[in-house]
Amino acid sequence: MPIYEYRCESCAEKFEVLTRFAERDSAQVCPACESTKTRVLVSSFAFAGAGDTSTSDFTSEAGGGGGCCGGACGSCGSSPN
Ligand SMILES: [Zn+2]
Repeated sequence: MPIYEYRCESCAEKFEVLTRFAERDSAQVCPACESTKTRVLVSSFAFAGAGDTSTSDFTSEAGGGGGCCGGACGSCGSSPN
């Protein structure tokens, strides 16, 4: 199960909860003030810890070339303009 980070809107406390994805958007009880006015924070730490490597592979491939095709078309490489 992934760890999600929540922030309490009553006392601004941040805390982490180990919960199911389906329960992610459910309100968690703040450990500091026991308020249920909490919101989940989407953090990169939570995604990295989830072991989902397919998304990171996709972003590294898409951002690795630079330009539209990585320089093969001539318009996205080093232009004299
Ligand atoms: Zn609180």
